[in-house]
Amino acid sequence: MSELPALLPSSSPIIVSGIWEVRVAVCEFGERGRLSGLTDSELLQVAAAARRQTSWAQARELAAIAELARRRGEDDPAVGYRGLSAHEAVVEEVGAALTVTGNAAATLVHLAERLTGPLTETLGALEAGHIDLATARAISDGTENLPDDVVGRVQVAALEKASGQTSGQVRRRIKRLAERLAPQCVEERRREAIRQRRLELWESPAGTADLGLCDLPPEDAHAIYNKISAAARGVRADGDTRSLQCIRADLATQLLNGHPLPDAIQALLAQAPPTAVAAIPDAVGEQGEEHDEVIGELAGMADRQLGQVCDRVPARARSAAVAHAVARIDLRLGARRDTFCRGGDDTHGHPGYRAPAALRREIQVRHSTCVFPTCNQPSHRCDLDHTTPWRPGITCRCNLAPLCRSHHRLKQTRGWKLHQPWPGLLIWVTPAGAWYIVRPDRQ
Ligand SMILES: [Zn+2]
Ligand SMILES: [Zn+2]
Repeated sequence: MSELPALLPSSSPIIVSGIWEVRVAVCEFGERGRLSGLTDSELLQVAAAARRQTSWAQARELAAIAELARRRGEDDPAVGYRGLSAHEAVVEEVGAALTVTGNAAATLVHLAERLTGPLTETLGALEAGHIDLATARAISDGTENLPDDVVGRVQVAALEKASGQTSGQVRRRIKRLAERLAPQCVEERRREAIRQRRLELWESPAGTADLGLCDLPPEDAHAIYNKISAAARGVRADGDTRSLQCIRADLATQLLNGHPLPDAIQALLAQAPPTAVAAIPDAVGEQGEEHDEVIGELAGMADRQLGQVCDRVPARARSAAVAHAVARIDLRLGARRDTFCRGGDDTHGHPGYRAPAALRREIQVRHSTCVFPTCNQPSHRCDLDHTTPWRPGITCRCNLAPLCRSHHRLKQTRGWKLHQPWPGLLIWVTPAGAWYIVRPDRQ
């Protein structure tokens, strides 16, 4: 086991070299009174550091569980069929010790065994605070039942980017990789999950209950959802003032209760075709090396300029200064935009506010989700935002990106800035002065 991950980055004025110092720093900074004296940026660093320590602690927990499971590993032949298997018994032992349910304990023991078996690098990343437990789980779930060599390759590829991705983003990336590297296993896993299909009921804290059809074949689930949505839109178009969400829920409840529906709705349900998601072409013209070169140049420029900003400017003024530096980078690269903004049709900019369908599709392929760093909203459900607002901003691949409704509004919120210094490469600047680079999708 390695040391606790550092509480603060090395650039921090506080030198953190070991567990004792980290504890002192946690006490000093974690104390409520002291927190009020920190800058926004320092507060976020303290939160991130505490989170890294949580990951480290969770890695310890899993390693200890795995060691116990290993010791209990041998089934006692004398017990035979009368007792639980060694594995079942250790699950009970862990559940009682940690005060978690049998299911939760079984999941923990399984995860612990995977992370000390084929996924030791994932355990290392958790221990170092590079990833959190949700991401470690995503890697474990996503590589379940895949051949050993594929597990290794998927793990390496996932960890490469995982520290900058949410667990949902890691899950999607692993799914794509697994589908490419072991399509038969993925298909078998899907069939096995479908064999476990079920109707589930949960009580909710609000005193309501949730009802869910789980592990259906996706085509069935989408067809049902699309039919009910189409009927709900019809009901709303006829003047119903309930929200679309409520109408959907009410229609589904009536149907499942066996209550008769008005003829018009019956007809809608019978007709409504599943809305097919438009096929998206495989790849936009790969700009390959030029792409890497420009990203490298940009990152270098950003480091230099932002480095200066951080050296020179007091923390409280950083946000504006960082935004200013990014804007300067934006301007400098902007001069080159005419040379590197080239599409299939060799154009730069389209007349009019609305992007033509082909350009829209191109942008949706370039970013399959909203371009906020942690957002998973599919781009076909997003607005196509002009990064620099329309006029002087133009309708072009170098100035368009998908943003979901709430991140569209975030962009317009005080203190937030979004730049697109190169087509498909976006830089967010936050009120605390942090900046996040979002690159075009690539495997
Ligand atoms: Zn352009
Ligand atoms: Zn979003």
